[in-house]
Amino acid sequence: MTGLPDEQAGGAARSHCDAARRSELAAALACLRQRIAAACCAAGRDPAEVRLLPVTKTFPARDVVLLTDLGLLDAAEARDSEAAAKVAEVNALRPAVPVRWHMVGRLQRNKARSVARWAVQVQSVDSPRLVQALDRAAGLAREAGDRQAPLSVLVQASLDGDPRRGGCPLAELDALADQVAVAPSLQLQGVMAVAPLGCPPEAAFARLSQAVARLRNAHPSAVELSAGMSGDLEQAIECGSTCVRVGTALLGSRPLTSN
Ligand SMILES: *Cc1c(COP(=O)(O)O)cnc(C)c1O
Repeated sequence: MTGLPDEQAGGAARSHCDAARRSELAAALACLRQRIAAACCAAGRDPAEVRLLPVTKTFPARDVVLLTDLGLLDAAEARDSEAAAKVAEVNALRPAVPVRWHMVGRLQRNKARSVARWAVQVQSVDSPRLVQALDRAAGLAREAGDRQAPLSVLVQASLDGDPRRGGCPLAELDALADQVAVAPSLQLQGVMAVAPLGCPPEAAFARLSQAVARLRNAHPSAVELSAGMSGDLEQAIECGSTCVRVGTALLGSRPLTSN
């Protein structure tokens, strides 16, 4: 030991770790930006059309803070309980930095009240009952002063028909979007999807982009298409993605128990 009081020694060790972690994240971010730029170039698209959304589930609040230092002010989470605690921690560490939090994981209706307090956007809206619960929750959060803006919503399309993985069947997606569009405390912004497991994503993303084109006829302001993750962002960008949700390729691998 250096003879410093514990707290100072801890602080020094932590800032050393932070510096190492920061350069690790900066390097991963540079790679990722290159992948996105190359994919946009191959697809004849402007990289400014594709937003990078870091998925910070299972990673600590400190990583979110380091990402904000690198200019990334959005973060996505997959579980309400983990997210609510992390949001509070990041607010305490960086009160002046306005991180925009997104919910991308499966959501139980009984968590709607909590999510409406911390999320600017919920990307995983996949059932009429969840739309109702979120609309009510966002209304209450506004009355309580916990939020100002309506809750931004992406309807999640199922590309594999597996109800356990979430998402609304493509045949029911338009009706779900119609319901969000008329909900007073929600704002329909587009569509989210996860590629099916265990098969190449191209065909699924092509079906998705057809469904999105149809939905945009009825809802021209629903411009967001959130598709593509660490392993398939190139294919998603080829199919029109405007938001890639990246965990592993930015933050490293997660413990296997997470979703
Ligand atoms: C975890 C998660 C991601 C990020 O996945 P990676 O493969 O780590 O990039 C994206 N979207 C959703 C819905 C997730 O749950």
